Amino acid sequence: MKKIVVKFGGSVLKNPEGLQKIEKIINSYNNYLIIVVSALFSVTDKLSEILAGGNLSGANISRLIKSLRRIHHDFLDHNINNLSTIKLIKIDLEMMLVVLNDHLTGLMLIGDIPESSHAFVISFGERLSSMVITSILNSKGIGICKSTPEEIGLYTSGRSLDARIDLERSRTEVKKKLSAEKHYLIPGFYGINNNNKVSVFGRGGSDYSAAVIAECIDAEYCDLWKDVNGFMTADPVLIKNASTIPLLSYGEAAELSYFGAGITHPDTFAPVRLKNIPLRIFSIEQHIERELLPPASTLINSKRERNKNVIKSITYSNNFALLRIKGSGVGIHPGIISNISRKLSEKGINIRSIITSQTTINFLLSSKNIEEASSIVRELNLPDAEEISIDENIALIAAVGYGFRETYGVAAKILTTLSEEKINVTLMTAGASDDAIYLTIRKNECEKAVRSLHHEFFEVQHHNK
Ligand code: ASP
Ligand code: MG
Repeated sequence: MKKIVVKFGGSVLKNPEGLQKIEKIINSYNNYLIIVVSALFSVTDKLSEILAGGNLSGANISRLIKSLRRIHHDFLDHNINNLSTIKLIKIDLEMMLVVLNDHLTGLMLIGDIPESSHAFVISFGERLSSMVITSILNSKGIGICKSTPEEIGLYTSGRSLDARIDLERSRTEVKKKLSAEKHYLIPGFYGINNNNKVSVFGRGGSDYSAAVIAECIDAEYCDLWKDVNGFMTADPVLIKNASTIPLLSYGEAAELSYFGAGITHPDTFAPVRLKNIPLRIFSIEQHIERELLPPASTLINSKRERNKNVIKSITYSNNFALLRIKGSGVGIHPGIISNISRKLSEKGINIRSIITSQTTINFLLSSKNIEEASSIVRELNLPDAEEISIDENIALIAAVGYGFRETYGVAAKILTTLSEEKINVTLMTAGASDDAIYLTIRKNECEKAVRSLHHEFFEVQHHNK
């Protein structure tokens, strides 16, 4: 029987009682599982915080260690009855905290935080949680073998803080190492690079760990357990009557995650798509009765279904910015885009999208990269680049769903809805993908835009016009 990869996120690991739920969930599966865990809730934030400018002091380090000790002890004390078992696990935990403490002290003393040390420190959330969770589940008699990305050979490439898995290199070893007929538990979020140093996958990266492991072992399913109801027609914090989308294709889910729906790491879908492994998102809030698996909130697979409205979800993000290169020659002379993209990729900067006209090239980038990207492009001294500017006042709205290219009127409906609200669309792409239309507007109009589009596509009943 094929194994299932099951991932529990930090939001599911908010309090010690959560572990009882996890125990029930594990028991409701009939297969052997590869369990991937995130850090306990808030731990990665705490680890990142201490590495932020000027925070690395002796007092802050001991405060951090104390608070990590308390969070993990709470889980142990709450979930294990046998005092001598708890004592032994706490000794192991203490040894890990000593390593973390020493590493942080070293960084404080040298007054520098290399990226690989940063990655090593923030991987401690998962190192600690995996140790504690395995011990608790084993004390309940579940029988889990703990392993680590180092041990199973999850090799990465790219930047230490934004790495990706080298599947070609990892696949065989991972499959072999996880082949025994038993449950395994693995910390998510990190792998090791060519120099055997820890690299992390960016925030929320345990989803991606789960998907990659699922690909390597040819899992039957990749299941992500979260504290939300799957993918929704819009951000439920903004739109009270947003509803869950039961079925999405890999492409639609990727577009949604890439352009704002914060529920999964955006790279999660590529590995499972390679092997056609269905990805299910479950809500931890679901009632689990008689150890039966509840229905998934959203199932993501290769089926591409067009619904009546074409659009399945409206998402947005305020984390993008535009780098604009103007010049009368940019459209005529070859090599400008390749020059820029080569330079940006050498620096590890990911281009999210490129939108061009004959006289202007717009690079859509993550806001965090925009300043660095702008100086890189200026240093290139491109003769055709007469004006290089940055636009940070943009919100990106994506309307995601399958069938834009075969259906007339969808883009028109989006533009009409926004123009009725007097919202100015500053840039738009349609047709670049089967799965999404996206556009930029001013940041302060974002909420209004999402509300009006959600209303138009999901809340009003359209009769044949
Ligand atoms: N612990 C990491 C984070 O909070 C990775 C994850 O949760 O998936 O970003
Ligand atoms: Mg998380």
